[in-house]
Amino acid sequence: MDEHGHRLPTDTDDGMLLVISGPSGVGKTTITRSVERSISDAIFSVSATTRPRTDLDVDGVDYQFMSEADFKKRVDNDEFLEHAVYAGNHYGTLRRPVETQLARGRLVILEIDVQGAIQIKKRMPDCFSIFILPPSEDALLERLRARKRESEETIKRRFDLARGEIERARASGAYDQFIVNDNLDKAIEQTLTVVRTQRAQRRRKGPAGGCCGGHCNQ
Ligand code: ADP
Ligand code: 5GP
Repeated sequence: MDEHGHRLPTDTDDGMLLVISGPSGVGKTTITRSVERSISDAIFSVSATTRPRTDLDVDGVDYQFMSEADFKKRVDNDEFLEHAVYAGNHYGTLRRPVETQLARGRLVILEIDVQGAIQIKKRMPDCFSIFILPPSEDALLERLRARKRESEETIKRRFDLARGEIERARASGAYDQFIVNDNLDKAIEQTLTVVRTQRAQRRRKGPAGGCCGGHCNQ
């Protein structure tokens, strides 16, 4: 699809929105980036956030870092597909790039929290959503520390949020699949298998139609 909404020769009807969530430190980024490398037309949606950039973050690759004023202006302009506050910072998915890539037939991956996933499932019920679980609470704490990204205080804060997130994810009904990330290779393989199976099933059913391939409720 070009900027005027015309179909390009490379566009397909294969667009699928994949939502991946899980508590901080569970391995979402590792799994998501691996899916992106393994599926040739997969594209990671770079979220906007007001959280401070760490030394490990690359602006424009991991997140689009912005001020709170800029974030709020975009909320007022209805530029977000979903947005939420997590651990005191704003996070959101910008609507335009996601809709453009879905219309091109790409597999678009959102790595977002439970609040965001609930909003997306309502707005785009055709999305496929996966929640990654840790094998145990101890393993989750170890992984948060292994990232060497934050202070012990921030690690504890994120760890304390985890139990509630898992409960909310289960209760929300917003997830199609739960995957335990115990052995990383197995978790990646399981994720790839469910995503490829979903895509093949949708391909057999044919295009859903609608404004962006039938992904949204409009
Ligand atoms: P998230 O994006 O969910 O916060 P990350 O992908 O950053 O989590 O992973 C957190 C840490 O845990 C990283 O150091 C990563 O290498 C490690 N990790 C991921 N999966 C596993 C696993 N199955 N076993 C052990 N360590 C893991
Ligand atoms: P982190 O600061 O560890 O990168 O992310 C914290 C949490 O925010 C994670 O659960 C992550 O999935 C979530 N997150 C990242 N981007 C978005 C987004 O665009 N929207 C929502 N709702 N959550 C996001």
